[in-house]
Amino acid sequence: MMYDYLIVGSGLFGATFAYKARQMGRTCLVVERRKHLGGNVYCENVEGINVHRYGAHIFHTNNQQVWQFVNSLTPFNRYTNSPLANYHGRLYNLPFNMNTFHQLWGVTTPQQAHDKIEQQRAEAMRKLGGRQPSNLEEQALVLVGQDIFDILIREYTEKQWGRACNELPPFIIRRLPLRFTYDNNYFNDSYQGIPTGGYNVLIDRLLEGVDAITDTDFFNSPYRQWRQYARRLVYTGPLDRYFDYRLGRLDWRTVTFKTRVEPVANYQGNAVVNYTSADVPFTRIIEHKHFETFGDEIYENPCTVVSEEYPAEYREGMEPYYPVNDKRGDQLAAQYRQLAQQEPDVIFGGRLAEYRYYDMAPVIELALNHPAHSS
Ligand code: FAD
Ligand code: UDP
Repeated sequence: MMYDYLIVGSGLFGATFAYKARQMGRTCLVVERRKHLGGNVYCENVEGINVHRYGAHIFHTNNQQVWQFVNSLTPFNRYTNSPLANYHGRLYNLPFNMNTFHQLWGVTTPQQAHDKIEQQRAEAMRKLGGRQPSNLEEQALVLVGQDIFDILIREYTEKQWGRACNELPPFIIRRLPLRFTYDNNYFNDSYQGIPTGGYNVLIDRLLEGVDAITDTDFFNSPYRQWRQYARRLVYTGPLDRYFDYRLGRLDWRTVTFKTRVEPVANYQGNAVVNYTSADVPFTRIIEHKHFETFGDEIYENPCTVVSEEYPAEYREGMEPYYPVNDKRGDQLAAQYRQLAQQEPDVIFGGRLAEYRYYDMAPVIELALNHPAHSS
């Protein structure tokens, strides 16, 4: 059979694209390298708990269209991410808010906190001498000052990225809100939650009625000759791999997970606890049950599942999770994108194929509104 699209990868880009294409009367075949569908949002059921196997995923967006779309497939729960940071045994609230400022400096009013941060910011601004911050360190110092940088940012960031803060792009730290209210919500977005029943339900709904093959690497399969199977290709794998690395390899950051069952109902009292000091080798511990059970429901299951997250530099055979958008990475990706433009029948979409640090909602938005659906 000749399909309209052969889609490489069943993550949120591939699955959403397939859903919309099917609605438009088009046919799709999805080819997925892993043994299961869903990309990085895939969950594994362990002891009755949905374990986020490729890292904790919290859905958040300001886009009403995207929020209504995902909720039309499965309703989302009321989970609000409010991580804690553990620095040498002391706990701080995230993101940077009045609770954090109180824990750091004992201040109790927004004015006191503002004055404290302004002193530190002024020092950082003076050093910049009117220049815009050109790296993550400069950006963090002008946003929140030295104390927060030292306790909550520097060591965590260098552990996460394996690079010095002054070699990383400023935008990474602008992901985190700074606010002068007692509000521990990690995101400023209007909508947030976890799909009821877990992310696999969402993926199943997106791919309902779509032909899909798992455990098949596109490049090592007959589908490489995709024109025999489909009119157009949707590619959501790593950008450099599509072009056989001909311009050089893009850098990626990866993470590995140590997941275990703990024989207690409530291990850390929160879904996410970050470890911001360099002497702890992992960046965070995720306790998965807190994404979907709240209050007394937590105790209905006498055990819990936790995952420690260990960052590492990507090598072949690992999962490429985070694009490293430093100068080299951005320049090389731009060159690859020029090559991509010369392939009119191929759509490059998602975090890996665009080499962009996308969250889930923008990926869904791009796949849903892709111009190909109206051509
Ligand atoms: P993916 O989900 O990576 O899907 C790509 C798919 O393509 C994969 O299944 C892969 O196996 C397949 N593939 C690749 N190459 C081939 C090949 N050669 N042949 C066949 N198949 C192939 N976003 C949020 O909004 N909130 C969060 O809390 C959040 N947390 C995150 C935590 C971590 C640790 C990570 C890594 C990401 C997180 N994200 C989060 C981002 C989110 O994972 C992405 O935005 C989203 O999953 C991107 O979807 P995608 O389809 O582009 O990529
Ligand atoms: N970050 C930090 N300390 C923290 C949490 C985050 O310094 O406790 C920085 C770090 O550089 C990280 C970035 O903020 O890479 C973005 O954090 P986010 O939680 O959005 O990262 P992700 O969930 O994508 O790994």
